[in-house]
Amino acid sequence: MMLTLAAYASPVVPLIGRDHHEAPPGLRTEYQRDRDRIVHCAAFRRLEQKTQVFASFEADNFRTRLTHTMEVAQIARTVACVLNLNETLTEAIALAHDVGHAPFGHAGQQALNELNLEFGGFEHNAHGLRVVESLEARYAAFPGLNLTFETRQGILKHCSLARAQRLGRVAERFFTGEQASLEAQVANLADEIAYNNHDVDDGIRAGLLETEEVFAREPFRSAYAEVVQVWPGLDRSRLCHEVIRRSINLQVTDLVTHSQAAINASGIASPQEVAAAGPLIGLSPGMLAHHRALKIFLRDHLYQHHRVQRMAVKGRRVIADLYLAFREETRLLPKDYQRSNGSSAQAEAITDYLAGLTDRQAVQEHERVFRPGVAT
Ligand code: MG
Repeated sequence: MMLTLAAYASPVVPLIGRDHHEAPPGLRTEYQRDRDRIVHCAAFRRLEQKTQVFASFEADNFRTRLTHTMEVAQIARTVACVLNLNETLTEAIALAHDVGHAPFGHAGQQALNELNLEFGGFEHNAHGLRVVESLEARYAAFPGLNLTFETRQGILKHCSLARAQRLGRVAERFFTGEQASLEAQVANLADEIAYNNHDVDDGIRAGLLETEEVFAREPFRSAYAEVVQVWPGLDRSRLCHEVIRRSINLQVTDLVTHSQAAINASGIASPQEVAAAGPLIGLSPGMLAHHRALKIFLRDHLYQHHRVQRMAVKGRRVIADLYLAFREETRLLPKDYQRSNGSSAQAEAITDYLAGLTDRQAVQEHERVFRPGVAT
């Protein structure tokens, strides 16, 4: 659905565009081309086997990074449409937002970060940028996917100042204090709304969260009150879904209403003015408080649950064992990733290799490197 774009939306023709000049895409817009390149790349496919909360091989019925990404994209597109923003740019950013994630979710990222501290650490957002700018080797004329500047800037949600210095123009806003496009802001908020709700859903279905305890909190509480009034005696599984879908709707509606009011009040009339304004896409203060409280609740009750922690610790151990073994002897790595032992280039190549693995590939690699009885 392509409606007339608002004056402050990113225009259909990118203002900055691609580093390497290419002929116009013909049937598609430039951002449709970005989106399609992301969907066709290897890092995107590997999201299917990467942890969201539960390792991808632990259970078949929970979110993986891929289905999480699809939920983010779907929420982000809805919000972009209602606000008359550039829907396809929003979708491209949402689809790419987690392509830099290591195996084993945040545990994997934490391990790679600690192992790389002397080389500037590891951040999945920045690594995602590296994936689309150089690690994907698919096109004859350029490294990476040659995505537009606007999509790449949107992927870089967070960035340390030291890293921003190395990244140059795409990270300039971290020095100037400027805001990302409204489309990037929408993708970020859609990510938060998606995981807060689907992690609750998966946590309940995994038996790690108690329905009563979760649904005593806003915004679930008002949704729960409505469902039990309209549908008394509903079975647990349908009850949960009815509550969670209402909760998503409440948050998305709040996001749209509050953001539109903030945009109107700011008086911005161009994408350039977005950069200089404060953050304009956001939840109302009341909903933001619920949202933050829910994040803390999920951290304490789900992410810190002993069953989630056991997998996280195993994941960290797998990553650390492999990293140190490869660091000691580069010849254990496939030829393309071999660099001089002890060099910083070696640390970088090992990190690229490990971050690119799926959960299952990392576990198999660990067996091949450490278990004498397993074929190499
Ligand atoms: Mg995400």
